[in-house]
Amino acid sequence: MSSTTLASASPRQSRRTYRVFAAAIVLMYGLDVLVLGEASLPPLVVRGVWAVLLLTLEELMSLSDRKTWRPVLAPLHGVVTSLLFLGVVQTTGGDASPYFHLVPTLPLLMALIFPQSPTPAIITGVVSALGVMVMVMVGHQPAGHAVAWALMVGAATFFGVYGSEQFRKAQAAEHEARLERERRESLEKLARSERHRTQSEKLATVGRLAASVAHEINNPLAFVRSNVEFLQREVAAWQGSEDSRKEATEVLDETRAGLERIHQIVADLRGFSRIDTAEDSECVLADVVTDAARLASLRLKHVARLRVDVPRELPPVHATQQRLAQVILNLLVNAGDALEEAKVQGGEVWVRGSVEGDEVVLRVEDNGPGFPPAVLTRLFEAFFTTKGPEKGTGLGLAISRELVERFGGTLTAENRAEGGARLLLRLPAHIPSQEAPDTGPLLFFPDHEGPQREEGA
Ligand code: ADP
Repeated sequence: MSSTTLASASPRQSRRTYRVFAAAIVLMYGLDVLVLGEASLPPLVVRGVWAVLLLTLEELMSLSDRKTWRPVLAPLHGVVTSLLFLGVVQTTGGDASPYFHLVPTLPLLMALIFPQSPTPAIITGVVSALGVMVMVMVGHQPAGHAVAWALMVGAATFFGVYGSEQFRKAQAAEHEARLERERRESLEKLARSERHRTQSEKLATVGRLAASVAHEINNPLAFVRSNVEFLQREVAAWQGSEDSRKEATEVLDETRAGLERIHQIVADLRGFSRIDTAEDSECVLADVVTDAARLASLRLKHVARLRVDVPRELPPVHATQQRLAQVILNLLVNAGDALEEAKVQGGEVWVRGSVEGDEVVLRVEDNGPGFPPAVLTRLFEAFFTTKGPEKGTGLGLAISRELVERFGGTLTAENRAEGGARLLLRLPAHIPSQEAPDTGPLLFFPDHEGPQREEGA
């Protein structure tokens, strides 16, 4: 709905309209002559004053601050219009004038001109009602007539005010709907650019990883190539001696390890750069940890005892379940590797979940050697590994951090005061989870086949 009223018109539009009104008021003196059957001066004077006052009011409105003065000038407008129209009625025959019957339309006219506020229509209604009553009394008509005319003006005022109120409501609803539409459009725009930004960041990371991959693949490739060349020479000059057979076997083993490493690097990268088809959803962390722990139990079986304490009551998180399980599995396998490498007796790995403010925090800790300072600063660098080329690619923590950040969380590392490593995974809590009984922490014992619940814990 679109509407232009005198109240909402631009200053130029409004001035033109007022001039047309003023001219019409004066020119309609012709009607007065017809009504009276003669050219009488008083109605012309009243019309002249009316036109001048109207133009003066318009001038005042355009000169003054419209917002501040409109509440004063608009009702004044009502007073001027009703008084001077009553003046025209009075000078053309009072209650016998044909204009007398038009008095009740004045409040309606004001409601039309100033729909933004009920005051001009109400004031016009009051002045007009008093005016008609006085005129009827002066014309010596019964008091009942005076009341009836006043009521008629009152009814017209009511309809005028009610109509303009409905108009205001419709305008407000239209304004609200437009704002809502604009808000939705800008939110969609924001979401689109956010998706675009995430995708470009991901591409940039993949680009950086790809550059490092080229560098990393070069090493195993170099020795694989020279080993293959050696084997070609050996096969060409095969003498069948035990020594050269042993040498060829060693070279083949090394070649195979190199190939494995290349395969692992490529697999890790493909996994990372693949666009996830699975949508993020609400995940119960206890379930995700159980999945990861089940897979990790094979690796940890002979190395450490795994204790899981992740209550089901924790608020859910928003993530891709498989990806989150992949992150936790990676942390558990790392802990197992560290314990095995340091030959720790009585190795322990803990996974604890808790709520801190509006975050769900998962702590993966072990009682292994922890991180030497030089390692701690480079942990999350792609291809940083201390495990030797056969065992580690150095991509696990880099990719894990990238995934956790994609879910809106953080992944950090520190040393435990009592010794050992601690990885801290923080994720924003989603909506509060429903009440569910705590089934107790899970326990994984070395040499046990699968996860068990800890009694009474
Ligand atoms: P990778 O496991 O292939 O080496 P990661 O990025 O997963 O790659 O780990 C990088 C390095 O961080 C590891 O080589 C290891 O030195 C160190 N690290 C990770 N987890 C632990 C841990 N729990 N205790 C000690 N060192 C760790």
